[in-house]
Amino acid sequence: MSRILTIIGARPQFIKAAAVSRAFQASSELEEVIVHTGQHFDANMSDIFFEEMGIPRPSYNLEISGGSHGQMTGRMLERLESVMQEVQPSAVLVYGDTNSTLAGALAAAKLNIPIAHVEAGLRSFNRAMPEEINRVLSDQLSAVLLTPTDTATKNLEREGISGARVVQVGDVMYDAALFFGGKVAEQKEGQTSPETPEGQFVLATIHRQENTDVPERLRAIFEGLAIVARTLPVVLPLHPRTRGRLALAGLEDLLEPLTVVDPMGYLDMVAHEQSASVIATDSGGVQKEAFFYSVPCVTLRDETEWVELVEAGWNTLVPPIDAETIAREILGAVGRKGADVIPYGAGNASELIVAELAKRFAQ
Ligand code: UDP
Repeated sequence: MSRILTIIGARPQFIKAAAVSRAFQASSELEEVIVHTGQHFDANMSDIFFEEMGIPRPSYNLEISGGSHGQMTGRMLERLESVMQEVQPSAVLVYGDTNSTLAGALAAAKLNIPIAHVEAGLRSFNRAMPEEINRVLSDQLSAVLLTPTDTATKNLEREGISGARVVQVGDVMYDAALFFGGKVAEQKEGQTSPETPEGQFVLATIHRQENTDVPERLRAIFEGLAIVARTLPVVLPLHPRTRGRLALAGLEDLLEPLTVVDPMGYLDMVAHEQSASVIATDSGGVQKEAFFYSVPCVTLRDETEWVELVEAGWNTLVPPIDAETIAREILGAVGRKGADVIPYGAGNASELIVAELAKRFAQ
């Protein structure tokens, strides 16, 4: 069987890879070998996803985390090169836009191993974001660009990447939402978890560097959420980076009025998303999950890669500048519905990806 080397390391990549791994397991032509770079390593940022979502055990764990972007990417590059030389895969599969994505793509490109990129073509057009650099460069290096949306496919076309290299498959997170979201909804019948307030609540997640590392933005967001909490409970699964940055900026007091919990496992997160009145986030994945579960979303960023949901009215972009505006927008979103749109494919992106890889790389 031909080997495909999957490179993952951060929370959203575990969720995407869970969907695609299920399709690999059903394939008689391809064998998946998984490398975990170690970028996210806490039990609740990593292990729980492998357990809950049935992701096969990684064959390699490089345990590389922390340090600057350059340090992390450089260390990954070096180690991934040796893994690739050992495994001799027919292709390398990378996901999304993290340092693990770029290090994997670069290591493979230098060894002349074809790269397939899941979630290719997304653009924020903000080159100050580390994610944007990771995406643009990984796309440039990829032999197969697996795009989630029309917009992503068009973005690539504009950069001169088109033809047989680009395959629009839909969004693997939609696959995951259909599979796991259904299970969660069944299990949840008649249950409420201890952190889920009965009745209305706002679910919030904040972790993007452009928000956590700029104290004025961090303050505006958390003051805004504190204002919201006077009207509706705000449940906040707190990302370790954000916790650290709040402490550094001396803003921990702003957490007081919020229901702060540890990062959640995927199933718990989905259960909260499904019952939230509004989701306020700077996450890419969470914006879409709000839509999958028909919950209005307020995105606390200057721009988004998932523009379809803003156009359809499910999502509002609120640059995190002013606390009052943030609070007004979040509370104003309660009950809002968007247009009936189907931007993320048919829920079979994972099967299409594995079929495409088999077509090109199975011997
Ligand atoms: N997520 C989770 N627990 C949490 C917060 C997020 O399982 O406490 C999931 C969420 O449901 C989504 C994914 O993590 O599937 C999004 O990842 P993240 O926000 O870290 O990254 P991004 O999507 O912004 O790249």
